[in-house]
Amino acid sequence: MPRTSATDTLDTALAQENEVLRARVRALEAALRKTEALPELAGFWRWEMDAALRFTWVSEEFAALTKMSAEIVLGKSRAELGVPRGDTAAWEQHLEDLAQRRPFREYRYSYIDGTGVLKNISVSGDPIFDAEGVFQGYHGISRNITADVQAVHQANEATARLLEALERSSDGFVLFDPGDRLLVCNSRHRSLFPEMASRLTIGAEYAALIRESAESLDLPGPEAREAWVAERLAYHQAPQGSMILRRHDGRVLELREERLPDGCTFVIAGDATERHHRQEELVSNEALFRLLFERSPMGMAVVDGEGRYLRCNDAYCRFLGYSQEEICRMGTADVTHPEDQPAMQERLGEQAREKTAEYRFEKRYLTKEGNQVIGLMTTATLPAQPGKQPTIIAQVLDVTERVNAEHALRLAKEEAEIANRAKSDFLANMSHELRTPLNAIIGFSEVLLGQYFGPFENLRYREYAQDIRSSGMHLLEFIDDLLDLAKIESGRLTPTDSDIDCAALIESIIRLLRERAHAAELQMTTDMPSELPLLRADVRMVKQIAMNLLSNAVKFTPPRGGVTIRAALNHATGGIELTVSDTGIGIAPEDLPRIRRRFGRAASSETRHIQGTGLGLAIVDSLVALHDARLDIESELGRGTIARVCFPPSRTVRGFVTSGTD
Ligand code: ADP
Repeated sequence: MPRTSATDTLDTALAQENEVLRARVRALEAALRKTEALPELAGFWRWEMDAALRFTWVSEEFAALTKMSAEIVLGKSRAELGVPRGDTAAWEQHLEDLAQRRPFREYRYSYIDGTGVLKNISVSGDPIFDAEGVFQGYHGISRNITADVQAVHQANEATARLLEALERSSDGFVLFDPGDRLLVCNSRHRSLFPEMASRLTIGAEYAALIRESAESLDLPGPEAREAWVAERLAYHQAPQGSMILRRHDGRVLELREERLPDGCTFVIAGDATERHHRQEELVSNEALFRLLFERSPMGMAVVDGEGRYLRCNDAYCRFLGYSQEEICRMGTADVTHPEDQPAMQERLGEQAREKTAEYRFEKRYLTKEGNQVIGLMTTATLPAQPGKQPTIIAQVLDVTERVNAEHALRLAKEEAEIANRAKSDFLANMSHELRTPLNAIIGFSEVLLGQYFGPFENLRYREYAQDIRSSGMHLLEFIDDLLDLAKIESGRLTPTDSDIDCAALIESIIRLLRERAHAAELQMTTDMPSELPLLRADVRMVKQIAMNLLSNAVKFTPPRGGVTIRAALNHATGGIELTVSDTGIGIAPEDLPRIRRRFGRAASSETRHIQGTGLGLAIVDSLVALHDARLDIESELGRGTIARVCFPPSRTVRGFVTSGTD
């Protein structure tokens, strides 16, 4: 048949349609290939059973997903494949469903696959009936749900662990669902609210529990309880921070609520009794110390390491004349006297470095009016907060008056000392000037008494010459004493030490006074141990000490009395003691302090008109002091006196012993 253009056109159209169809087939094939891979990707396989409930077909994913060959199942009934692991009741129900040709959904079981791994499977199936309603068998799908089951299992385990951890928590824990019904409550929470422990059960209503918990709180009455419940529920609506609950039994609880994104609420409660009490104590201590700081009559200020004032009290403000605000804008350097600045800076620096150091020093301040005041400052470093500079607390006592008075006293003392020295110098000069003519008077009175140029015509001249001599002698003694005292006081007399044999020294003095004692009808004895260490002292001074004491004893002891001088080693102290005792007129207790002073005399000697200047003991006292020794006087009126000089043990010469007379 000849080809017409119409036939050509038809051919072309057919070819084009063919091409389109082919492209569609290719696309369908590709889509099919994709869907074929889906069951394996989704983890399921398809299966079919005949009317005798034997497997007739399994899709090819079976082998890949179960790691078993299809041959194992084909031709076998479900029961012939073995009883699966898991719930027996569910298994029996599944067999019953098959027998009754009922559709079934999501029957779950587990088995160990060909590689020994536990697999969880979910099976769903539908019975097949033909057009006449005759049962043909089943078709369905089985799904590998191992990963899902494991995920659920792990989630359950995690939840169980979490609940266990909450159970062991030292805090109370309660979880409410979004409808405010109790989901979880741990034992600790029950023990914090023991009276309502039995009501803290799953499903309990939040508001009811809150109302009940109000009963256990230390609130004054129903109104206060209502107010608290309202406050508590308001906190539940918008929980912020924590709430403090004070219970009847004295315990203090602290609770905190949190809202979870899904609307659940959890409450964490703890026993804060101890912490609370500590905090209360801290607050009351702080109040006490603040009161002490603010009301203290002593000026107090807190400064930083650079000496800037951080705070100060009223007394400090009064001391310097500034207000608190003014001081807190200043530093210690602004109020310190310029001359005291370097010392103060040094101390502050030292204190900042050695954080525990404590100082006490006097410092001059300048007040707002520009006056100088003096403060006795005691500073201590306060322990620094971590990462912060240490601060120093300074207490200042206004000692301006005391220091000024001390200064005036020092000046007065210096002036008095200068005057005293001038007086002593004057006395020394005067004594010298007096002694020269006095020696002439005594010398000439002795010439007269000796009648070297012819006898007296009138015996009265002899009597007068006698008087001139004894008065002259008395005056000379007095001047000698005055001169000695003046020398001691002017500091010009210093002991020249040598090793003294006390027995020999006493002997020499006795010799000088023996005649006087004899004339006064006195028994004079010495009392010396057989052996006595040497005494390290100024021999002339010790002689004068012994002489003055012994001549007093002779002077103040009436006839037929006794005078004893003894030297001995005090074994307890190790020092040598020189003792002069008498059975004389004695000294009244009230006169004892006076007699050591210059010109001091006891009433007993004055009333008896016993001559004396009152300088002898003053000289002894001064000489004793030059030897670091001590003079003790014991006396009883009418019975006698004991004067004892105790030398320090350092003046006993060890190893050198002298033999004395017993
Ligand atoms: P004076 O003996 O020159 O008066 P002293 O200074 O030696 O001066 O003694 C002061 C006073 O102490 C004496 O006047 C006397 O009253 C009293 N006194 C000193 N020694 C004795 C003594 N052994 N017995 C009684 N009185 C004494």
